[in-house]
Amino acid sequence: MTGRKENNNSKKCPLCGGGISDGTTATPFFIDERIIVVKDVPAEVCGDCGEAYMKSSVVDRVESLLDRLEDLHSEVSIVHYEAA
Ligand SMILES: [Zn+2]
Repeated sequence: MTGRKENNNSKKCPLCGGGISDGTTATPFFIDERIIVVKDVPAEVCGDCGEAYMKSSVVDRVESLLDRLEDLHSEVSIVHYEAA
């Protein structure tokens, strides 16, 4: 008997071992020559190193947003995740 319990509520950052909590992040995407910054993306953010981890469902939604933005032809775009 080890007496150990897995605690799923306190995740650890794979990079630095710091604590991860829910938050939002701004993530730049580089497509060809263009930069698209997506703000307010829901993510789990490390309190120590600031690394953000996005769920795959969030990534899917961001990618569909980026697909639509390809028609804009502006070099730098800043969009909110809510617009996706
Ligand atoms: Zn970290």
